[in-house]
Amino acid sequence: MTVTNWAGNITYTAGAAHRPRSLEELRTLVAGAAAVRVLGSGHSFNEIAEPGAGGLLLSLAELPAEVDVDTAARTVRVGGGVRYAELARRVHGHGLALPNMASLPHISVAGSVATGTHGSGVGNGPLADAVREVELVTADGATVVLGRDDARFGGAVTSLGALGVVTALTLDLEPAYEVEQHLFTELPADGWDFEEVASAAYSVSLFTDWRDPGFRQVWLKRRTDEPLRDFPWAVPAKVALHPVPGMPPENCTEQFGVPGPWHERLPHFRAEFTPSSGAELQSEYLMPRRHAAEALRALDGVRAVVAPVTQTCEVRTVAGDRQWLSPSYGRDTVAVHFTWVEDTAAVLPAVRAVEEALEPFDPRPHWGKVFTTPAETLRARYPRLGDFRRLVAELDPSGAFTNAFVRRVLDAGRA
Ligand SMILES: Cc1cc2nc3c(=O)[nH]c(=O)nc-3n(C[C@H](O)[C@H](O)[C@H](O)COP(=O)(O)OP(=O)(O)OC[C@H]3O[C@@H](n4cnc5c(N)ncnc54)[C@H](O)[C@@H]3O)c2cc1C
Repeated sequence: MTVTNWAGNITYTAGAAHRPRSLEELRTLVAGAAAVRVLGSGHSFNEIAEPGAGGLLLSLAELPAEVDVDTAARTVRVGGGVRYAELARRVHGHGLALPNMASLPHISVAGSVATGTHGSGVGNGPLADAVREVELVTADGATVVLGRDDARFGGAVTSLGALGVVTALTLDLEPAYEVEQHLFTELPADGWDFEEVASAAYSVSLFTDWRDPGFRQVWLKRRTDEPLRDFPWAVPAKVALHPVPGMPPENCTEQFGVPGPWHERLPHFRAEFTPSSGAELQSEYLMPRRHAAEALRALDGVRAVVAPVTQTCEVRTVAGDRQWLSPSYGRDTVAVHFTWVEDTAAVLPAVRAVEEALEPFDPRPHWGKVFTTPAETLRARYPRLGDFRRLVAELDPSGAFTNAFVRRVLDAGRA
């Protein structure tokens, strides 16, 4: 039996994932393994979750799906295998909300915050920003809890899965709110200011396939408790849209300004349907937002290489955060994402062309997507890599959770 990631481009050497049904079983499995990694919902596009030959691959899908809401404290404790769709539904049932979501609710919470997964919005940090406490089972089977007041917390959430098994996370919540989606088409290449467009709503996404200048689609997600701003630069959409040309708009969350609960509008894709195109690879690069216009011009220069293998490209923003390995660490960010065709050999030249074009803007690749950035280059881009390496050495001294992907990143941090 083989286990692959969602995209099918990675086959895990472990063959099958072990699925403990209790914390005790989990501790025993972990304590007996020389190399171990957790597979979340498998939505990453690279070998970040691969334990290595002979290693143990764990799925937490059969642990009790804990979602424990504290309405007075406005927090939720969520189990390590729970996905955003389930978390959001339960939290909303208590009249509470998360501040933001990614483009899809299908992904696990622990796996998402481990890679720095984000939505959009100039005032919204990555999803990891909501985490106030992490509970880990480390390689010796012990439990370690790291909260925001711990000096090590900066390495604890966006950890690439390198510290131990995340068995629970506690997240901050806020009162539930409603969101409307206003979609536009035909945003021209010029005549608008990136900051103004990116700030036009709570969450803003621009889409292009690089075949024509400008952006084919603009998605504004407006909180109904915030003012509705004019968007004079593009044309209001007349029909329902999907960000990937040719895919059914029915798979997407409700549009045309119909107000609805935050968790049914912030993601682009509905939980019950295949998100995105379903046959794809993805890459994404996060840069200081002040470089947005210049970076988009640089990508325009490589459109001949990029367009033939692009299904869609999405431009979003992320507020700077404090997780040491977060791609938006310490800088207000523009994130440029590519949904490629499902063909690694055809896509890699475009990935390299994008990396070369963006090089002057100090791009940090999304940890869960396809990139070829050399480890030495990553070192300069992550000023707290040394602190993270020390945290790994403290919590996982035998290196049981340090797979080849993490080793490349950590070795880059050595002076
Ligand atoms: C269709 C699609 C749309 C996407 N949209 C977005 C988007 O809008 N924004 C964005 O930023 N990204 C997006 N992504 C990328 C995705 O969010 C990340 O790859 C994310 O990490 C997926 O979470 P996962 O649970 O599938 O993680 P996995 O790929 O299963 O694992 C990721 C990492 O987390 C670790 N991990 C998982 N669970 C645990 C645990 N309990 N304890 C310890 N380590 C753990 C794994 O070992 C691995 O290192 C998208 C991906 C797809 C396929």
